[in-house]
Amino acid sequence: MKDIDFLKLVKSNIRSLRPYETKEIPCRVKLDANESPYCIDITPDKKILQRINRYPDPEAVKLKKAISMALKVNSANILLGNGSDELIYYLITAFGGPVLYPIPTFSMYGIISQALGEKNIEIPLNEDFDLDIDNMLAAIKKYNPKLIFLSSPNNPTGNCFSAERILKIIETSKGIVIADEAYQPFSSDKGFLPLLKDYRNLAILRTLSKIGFAGLRVGFLLADKDLINEVNKVRLPFNLNALSQAVALEAFKNKRLIESQIKNITSERERLFEELSRINNVSPYPSEANFILFKTKNADIVFKKLIKNGVLVRNLSSVVKDSLRVTIGTHGENNFFIKALKKSIGGKA
Ligand code: PMP
Repeated sequence: MKDIDFLKLVKSNIRSLRPYETKEIPCRVKLDANESPYCIDITPDKKILQRINRYPDPEAVKLKKAISMALKVNSANILLGNGSDELIYYLITAFGGPVLYPIPTFSMYGIISQALGEKNIEIPLNEDFDLDIDNMLAAIKKYNPKLIFLSSPNNPTGNCFSAERILKIIETSKGIVIADEAYQPFSSDKGFLPLLKDYRNLAILRTLSKIGFAGLRVGFLLADKDLINEVNKVRLPFNLNALSQAVALEAFKNKRLIESQIKNITSERERLFEELSRINNVSPYPSEANFILFKTKNADIVFKKLIKNGVLVRNLSSVVKDSLRVTIGTHGENNFFIKALKKSIGGKA
């Protein structure tokens, strides 16, 4: 066998790159990945399996049509991805950097940008977790970023950024501003879709992952058709597999059911917020998403004790001091979590 040091062989920007953390720790209650706790029973059109020897529709015409009707945008303004992660990859591949984003935020903006050898510019959020507009505008002026990613509601903080600040950034930037609205369905804020027609440099990312279909890997980019055409040049052929296309198509027929599940999740979120607020030494941050970030003393220890007590949450203490993030589960799961948390804090793991 040849003695090859792959670490030396790999590109220098990849050498120091750390992969996205996707550790699956088996636990009775899984509240770590911002998935929906509800699984909708969907049977895709059986004909799909009779054609599985064929490549899928490369343009996913039917699915685009369903999205177009649901969101009232033209099919020409839609690009589909194998999750919105893939679309972030394509955006950075097509336009390059510098790539600007506030921190803390969704880690894939930085990981993908570094993987593609682009320059990252990270501007800390202010103490309310809103955009530090002066520093954002100064960075835009100094670096002229090609892409600016704004996750609103933001992962992991849960809040929406001030719409006024986002607009100021769109108006100031000569590059593209991507409003990542993965969590918009859970927010009282209506998001930036209504403004798409007014700003050519605004692009919106949405996903089916948070509303019941994380396993499908279907995300969509909504933007000016010329922007879509440029990103489409780097899209891999047949990036959305036939089964995902077929199931996603059925998913769009379950709008009412999905909406009622979202309602359950947001009302459970408010209940969980109240419950967390009542626990000594725990303080939750207000959330417009399907998760809550909360501060707790000894977060690393509490995280481990929660696992022992049957609940997996996300440990974000390296990102926001002493903080854990819990995804909103079903009523029963949330009760189980609250009990487990009290036990974990009380020391009786
Ligand atoms: N954007 C944000 C803000 C997210 O939190 C996530 C998932 N964690 C994504 C995008 C990626 O979602 P998808 O499953 O569509 O790739």
